[in-house]
Amino acid sequence: MDLLDQRYDVIIVGTGVAGLNCALNLPRDKRVLVICKSKITDCDSYLAQGGICRLKNDEDYDSYFEDTMHAGHYENNPAAVDSMIRGSQEVIGDLVNLGVEFATEADGSFAYTKEGGHSVPRICYHEDSTGKEITTTLLRAVRKLENVVLTEKVTMLDIIERDNCCYGIVALDNASGKVYDVLADYTVLATGGLGGAFGNTTNFGILKGDALAICLDHGVAVDRINYIQVHPTSLYSKKRGRRFLISESVRGEGAYLLDKNFNRFTDELKPRDVVKDAVFAQMKKDGTKFVWLDMRHIPAEKIAAHFPAIVHRCREEGYDVFTQCIPVVPAIHYFMGGIRSDLKGRTTMSRLYAVGETCCNGVHGKNRLASNSLLESLLFAKRAAQDIGSGFTRTDRGQESLALGALDGEKYKEPKKLLARYKNQVKKAVKAAQEGKDINVNYKEN
Ligand SMILES: Cc1cc2nc3c(=O)[nH]c(=O)nc-3n(C[C@H](O)[C@H](O)[C@H](O)COP(=O)(O)OP(=O)(O)OC[C@H]3O[C@@H](n4cnc5c(N)ncnc54)[C@H](O)[C@@H]3O)c2cc1C
Repeated sequence: MDLLDQRYDVIIVGTGVAGLNCALNLPRDKRVLVICKSKITDCDSYLAQGGICRLKNDEDYDSYFEDTMHAGHYENNPAAVDSMIRGSQEVIGDLVNLGVEFATEADGSFAYTKEGGHSVPRICYHEDSTGKEITTTLLRAVRKLENVVLTEKVTMLDIIERDNCCYGIVALDNASGKVYDVLADYTVLATGGLGGAFGNTTNFGILKGDALAICLDHGVAVDRINYIQVHPTSLYSKKRGRRFLISESVRGEGAYLLDKNFNRFTDELKPRDVVKDAVFAQMKKDGTKFVWLDMRHIPAEKIAAHFPAIVHRCREEGYDVFTQCIPVVPAIHYFMGGIRSDLKGRTTMSRLYAVGETCCNGVHGKNRLASNSLLESLLFAKRAAQDIGSGFTRTDRGQESLALGALDGEKYKEPKKLLARYKNQVKKAVKAAQEGKDINVNYKEN
């Protein structure tokens, strides 16, 4: 594939909101390659249902800050939270300028919905497909850029690195099976979460934390990788495959959680981890595989207008949400930990950035507040692009040659095995972090 046979100024790995917004905000005189592992649409950004938070006005600041910190058990990085909240109007403004259509009130102002952990409604939304609306709009804009090459079904197998400086990636063309060394002055990891490594997840199965494993291999610092959010309500199904999320905004609009006798058993709008624990406890007490979610008391026209995709999917699974309760069960959903990055997306390796769900800048603490992740991904990806643009320099070509020369071709001869090793490495590292071991110190799989 010719596209992989060239040198780039910047390589971005991932076509979710983080990767696309980074590409959009890089200077137009930089040649940029954006790759993704599968189809462009196979990323969690497309799946986001509930919406994206926006600071409504100055008076909302204290409460938004407190809600985010409270949900995160006060383990959040306050500077990151402050930066995200203050940047939220800029991000939503950018999206509107690109053509994203959010729900509005009769006077044209944003209509806000609510989710668990929020003390007031402050979430902008587009029906129950906010992620698809945002991602397709970003994609349309990126496709118009002459300086950006976007290609799918290319898998990053490794980074090219020497003395803690990144010179590009080793990439597999999935179709031909050919492996390429693709050089760049800067590399941005925007590779999303890791639910696919574990199963029982709302995430795409391809998202297994490859970049995390690669960073562990190369001694790039990672943080809090045992902080994995379990969402309280995915649609219960005996079928295999990805779990279908029932957005928290359904509860935000008034839906109840019911036990096997159809009685409410918890406050549905507590932060996610609290509701998830209550659901698990109730399932144990009742000896059931799910609890019920009841929307029947919410006006039908409101449900139909706000949640058409959920109504449709439930119908496909045999449930009429207007007249029936639906069975829901917790599922692995979001990665709060990740590759350590600062507020400009910089990792501990020179010329290597990490943005979006794969990174950890501490903004979410121990538990993400609903609808903060699209925002976080978009904002800090933009900041990373600005940082790369403003400080752009070329790599040292001598060092680059040495880095290339040191690559071990044997490692990439069986890509499937390598990716399977990465997956196991991620699972082991998460387990080690759960056990309190320092996974940053010389972590190598044995
Ligand atoms: C069902 C669901 C609903 C959600 N709802 C909301 C919501 O309402 N509001 C909200 O704020 N957040 C929500 N989230 C979370 C949010 O969607 C994600 O956190 C966010 O979209 C992550 O964006 P990203 O760009 O970091 O990653 P993603 O969008 O997941 O993109 C990851 C990209 O990395 C690529 N990639 C991965 N590994 C490799 C590799 N080795 N080589 C090449 N490419 C690779 C993938 O192909 C993909 O293109 C939801 C998540 C899910 C799963």
